[in-house]
Amino acid sequence: MATAVEYSPRQHETEQITAHVLWMTTGLSCEGDSVAMTSATNPSLEDIIQGVIPGMPRVVIHNQVIAFEVGDEYIQAWYDAEQGKLDPFVLVVEGSVGNEEINGEGHWTGFGVNPSNGQPITLNEWIDRLAPKAAAVVAVGTCATYGGIPAMKNNPTGAMGVPDYLGWNWRSKAGLPVVCIPGCPAQPDNTTETLMYLVFHLAGMAPAPDLDEQLRPKWLFDRTVREGCNRAGFTEQGNFATEYGSDHRCLVKLGCKGPVVKCNVPVRGWVNGIGGCPNVGGICMACTMPGFPDKYMPFMDPDPWGEKGADFQRFTYGPVFRYFRKRNIDKKFDIEPEWRRRGPALTSGYQKRW
Ligand code: SF4
Ligand code: SF4
Repeated sequence: MATAVEYSPRQHETEQITAHVLWMTTGLSCEGDSVAMTSATNPSLEDIIQGVIPGMPRVVIHNQVIAFEVGDEYIQAWYDAEQGKLDPFVLVVEGSVGNEEINGEGHWTGFGVNPSNGQPITLNEWIDRLAPKAAAVVAVGTCATYGGIPAMKNNPTGAMGVPDYLGWNWRSKAGLPVVCIPGCPAQPDNTTETLMYLVFHLAGMAPAPDLDEQLRPKWLFDRTVREGCNRAGFTEQGNFATEYGSDHRCLVKLGCKGPVVKCNVPVRGWVNGIGGCPNVGGICMACTMPGFPDKYMPFMDPDPWGEKGADFQRFTYGPVFRYFRKRNIDKKFDIEPEWRRRGPALTSGYQKRW
């Protein structure tokens, strides 16, 4: 998706920029995205904070999961941002936004106290105060991007994602739409990489991030789980697991939704390239998708069309592929060439000494 920001390299100015990341965990959330982010390795949180990435401007991350400050001292950055003292800053929202118009006598969320009435300042109010001044707004996790679990059917809090709250056509001060990093939680490196990219962009060192229709970075979310899964070869050959923990065959008959889910976790792994749902035997539950969770429940039931597709592969070309591949492997490719074959004498003329 094109954005209004022009890419104008000005590397020489980057030393002057300190980008603040104001990370609100105040939404309807479990804070899983913040906790997950602490395990990022590419880049790691430490790399970003300590400024070890060449050319990257200084970054200060305000997030209560990693902060030393508490109380008034911690919240001061938010007031500073509101007063224009932190510029540029990226507003990160974790957790979904409740509808405070249906909160009855209370509040769905609160962060800090409003001195004028002694009432909590809701996430909604913080977004209203800060979004117009933010260089970029990032929604992290499926709760913040599309509503996620708090917004599932019945939804008593009226929970919604940030693009629903601000508007899908909303633009930040720097001309960027809301940037969505879905996942439950968001894959740690997807989070840190996108933040790093945005900071480079705000420093004029990278073009605006290319986002898809659901406002996700295209380079992270343009492939399906199936397209990156290390079990996909078994699918093609019609090999499907029929019980959990059995072996490494395709999991689609056990309820894996990978063929229709956009997520890079099978390629990227979870921590430092290791793990990643189907790679390690877990079905994909579609946690990155806008329709999560309702459209994919019950999670462990196979999708009827997925199952039909699997049966087609299983009973038509799958066994044919399997047969000819195995035959070729056993008889042709998994043995040394003719001129180095085992036998009483090597064809090279070398006389064996045993
Ligand atoms: Fe927690 Fe998942 Fe919501 Fe993130 S998206 S706050 S991990 S429930
Ligand atoms: Fe979520 Fe599926 Fe990606 Fe795992 S593979 S993180 S369940 S979308």
